[in-house]
Amino acid sequence: MNKLINIFVLDDDPFTLKLLGRTLAKLGYGRVSCFERGDAALAAYEIPGCIPDVILLDLNMPSMDGIEFVRHLAERCFIGALILVSGEGERMLEATNKLIHTHRLSVLGTIRKPPTLAMLSAVLDKWSPHIVSKPFAASIPYDAETVDAAIVKGELINYYQPKVAVATGKIIGVETLVRWQHPLDGLVLPDLFIPVAETSGQINKLTRVVLKEALSQSKVWQEEGFSLQVAVNVSMDDLADVSFADFVAAEAKGLQPQSLMLEITEGRLIQNLSTVLDVCARLHLRKFRLSIDDFGTGHSSFVQLHDLPFDELKIAKMFTHHAWHDARLRAIFKSSLNLALQLGMEAVAEGVENADDWAFLRTTQCHIAQGYFIGQPMPAAALPGWMDEWQYRMKQQ
Ligand code: C2E
Ligand code: CA
Repeated sequence: MNKLINIFVLDDDPFTLKLLGRTLAKLGYGRVSCFERGDAALAAYEIPGCIPDVILLDLNMPSMDGIEFVRHLAERCFIGALILVSGEGERMLEATNKLIHTHRLSVLGTIRKPPTLAMLSAVLDKWSPHIVSKPFAASIPYDAETVDAAIVKGELINYYQPKVAVATGKIIGVETLVRWQHPLDGLVLPDLFIPVAETSGQINKLTRVVLKEALSQSKVWQEEGFSLQVAVNVSMDDLADVSFADFVAAEAKGLQPQSLMLEITEGRLIQNLSTVLDVCARLHLRKFRLSIDDFGTGHSSFVQLHDLPFDELKIAKMFTHHAWHDARLRAIFKSSLNLALQLGMEAVAEGVENADDWAFLRTTQCHIAQGYFIGQPMPAAALPGWMDEWQYRMKQQ
């Protein structure tokens, strides 16, 4: 842990402020500035070279409260991390956490008052120079023309995230997650260009590029002796195109149809239900597998579950991560899982971010797990290395 990071502490209570300052000193952090007021902290922030790496922030302050302070940080495109310190209840901390995420700022963790040395040390240990948030100002979506040019120029590349069996840890397959290798901006995540492609009518072109590449990679894995199911994300607009089932069948020649999973999320309402039903039924007849993605969010819900022939149900990460700890999340997680089991579908838990999430999952009947704890999305070339490492980790357990 780098003890030279620049830390701001903001708390209106002089006693807590002193306690935090002293505890940080005991932990060996030398660059700590304490503030009783938000405006003073912001003034220090503006001094060249003073931008903090981490801010410990009290939520409940009389003049400028923590939520207003966060808004000012978002306006300044703060790229460090926040630690929330509060005497407020769990729900308040969670709501604030969510709000901070909507500003695309990073939260290292939350600390309930009174703070202890162990709590502070555990949260600060999570800091790494790679924790850099993506403030909105730096993440304005690209325009349709630029996205179209990227598709045509072949700048999209596929990453693959492992999906493993919960009971045995064995790798079942991968989910294809597209990235854009932007010549100036580096690797761009899909949230910044998929919605653009969807609204501008280019998603069909994009999906076909991603699918083609994923299927040819799948053939390479097959030749190398890896039996992996490859999942590809498709949007409802893809299924509203009558030629989609034939396109998939033509591209998947030489592969077992069961080895392709199409993950369907519905961000918007279905416009052309009869075509979508037609395409899904034909894909199903040809034994390609269909998955309802992010179940329980947006429009991915009971209506689709009833109407479309799904084989797999993916429980959204927001219901998996922390379900071990939060009774409300656990209730939603378990109902979604039961639904999948009752309907004879495979259940996949997304968002397995840490050892606690994984341990919880192992107590359930969920079939498959996916998440950062198991493996991050990676280029195809990194997968064999990940497999060795994962096998080693499973043996250690
Ligand atoms: P999704 O289908 O829900 O994909 C899972 C997202 O969660 C991925 O984000 C993945 O990197 C992230 N993730 C995986 N494990 C964890 C975890 O443990 N914790 C957390 N917090 N996140 C995790 P990514 O790659 O940024 O993709 C975002 C979304 O973009 C995807 O969400 C999917 O809806 C869409 N997308 C990606 N590739 C394609 C594509 O080729 N076509 C279409 N139509 N959509 C795509
Ligand atoms: Ca997905």
